[in-house]
Amino acid sequence: MKNSIISFATLRLIVTISFCLLSVSSCVKESVPIPQNWTDCGNGVFSVQDPETGVNIALITSGNQAALVDAGVDSASILQVKEYLKRTNLSLSQLFITQYHKNHTRNLSLVSEYPLETHTPFNMKHGATVKIGDKTVKIISSPRFTSDNNFSLLIDNQILVAGDLFINDRKMKTLFDMHLELIRQLQPIQLSSIIPGYGNVIQGKTQVEEYLKAVESQVKYRISTADNWVKINDDIFISTNPAEHDNNMIVVISGKEASVIDVGSGGGETNVKEGIYQKSGNQSQRVVEFIQQRNLVLKNIIITHYHSDHSENLHLFKPLAGNIFDYRNINNGQPVKMGDKNFRLFYSEGHTAPNEHISIEINDDIIVTGDVLCDFATPSLLIAGRKYLEPYISTLETIKKQNYALIIPGHGRPFFDNAKIDAYLEDLYAMRKKK
Ligand SMILES: [Zn+2]
Ligand SMILES: [Zn+2]
Repeated sequence: MKNSIISFATLRLIVTISFCLLSVSSCVKESVPIPQNWTDCGNGVFSVQDPETGVNIALITSGNQAALVDAGVDSASILQVKEYLKRTNLSLSQLFITQYHKNHTRNLSLVSEYPLETHTPFNMKHGATVKIGDKTVKIISSPRFTSDNNFSLLIDNQILVAGDLFINDRKMKTLFDMHLELIRQLQPIQLSSIIPGYGNVIQGKTQVEEYLKAVESQVKYRISTADNWVKINDDIFISTNPAEHDNNMIVVISGKEASVIDVGSGGGETNVKEGIYQKSGNQSQRVVEFIQQRNLVLKNIIITHYHSDHSENLHLFKPLAGNIFDYRNINNGQPVKMGDKNFRLFYSEGHTAPNEHISIEINDDIIVTGDVLCDFATPSLLIAGRKYLEPYISTLETIKKQNYALIIPGHGRPFFDNAKIDAYLEDLYAMRKKK
């Protein structure tokens, strides 16, 4: 009898506990998962990317309020947003149109059923603020960027919905000095994410910092190409030879003086590839002519290493030059001054036997790596041998730490960020593990 009383009490306890748990769980609002193509930027802000075109729209939510930024090009994105609003009981009350381009407005008719307060470049001024629930959105207007007016939204000083002011494909199409002004305004804020007009969300303070720095470098060094020359600015030019896996020769100018880094290889017609040099002749000869036509005094020749593609045509430059620097006559970290250009020459390892390869820093923010980094090749192709793995890793780690504004590799196009170095290091770390 005693036993059955205990069982009854126990049973009652179990029922009570279950009931409590049940009521608690029914009180917790079911969280609605976001679709795969959305990015949760935190604080109730979502980026909705059109998987076809990469164009982004954004949804800002706060309490039971929601605002939409742009209407995008594909109807699927808007339909997803509407579905989400329905499931979360959010009321869409505001719409921001960052720019009147079809990428931003094509689907406006799909949100016409909502009673929307609409903010456009025509009724919003730079610095204006708009409240969405407890969030404050600040308008950053940049009418000088394009022929059309446009703006970005800064949400609670944390997230930037950039519209087309920033796109994330590493090749900003239109760059203006005003980008620099904007970047310098944004840098101290330490944004947690940027939703670009196009491309993946840049998420995390470090990533945002790196992205802004990369765009800054692109504005600073507005690279242009013509006739196999890459112009970095008025003082730095790269001549690239497609017949030698795009090996680079770099001309650095200060006033009437010039320095050349690497001197190329081959003789004229033997390097003809698909007619590229049929008219222009030998690449090294063109660099010589470039220097002569500008009446420049060739003060220094710097050779990164003595592989033929970087050094064979030294004889063409030798008669013109004052100094020749190479691995044999430098001290590690040696400074070389030429007018307003300060070079620093240091040993870089992995691609050749130790101490037979140098990289060159120019004015603290540019690095000419030589062949420890190339656009076309992987480290396993470039490394001189497995025993140079550790020195190679530490060379690249050292270069990476400097966060150069511009990296000019031994072969191929220059880079604005450390992504290539990271990819190289990843490969080298994998090689290390295989030991
Ligand atoms: Zn080489
Ligand atoms: Zn090479």
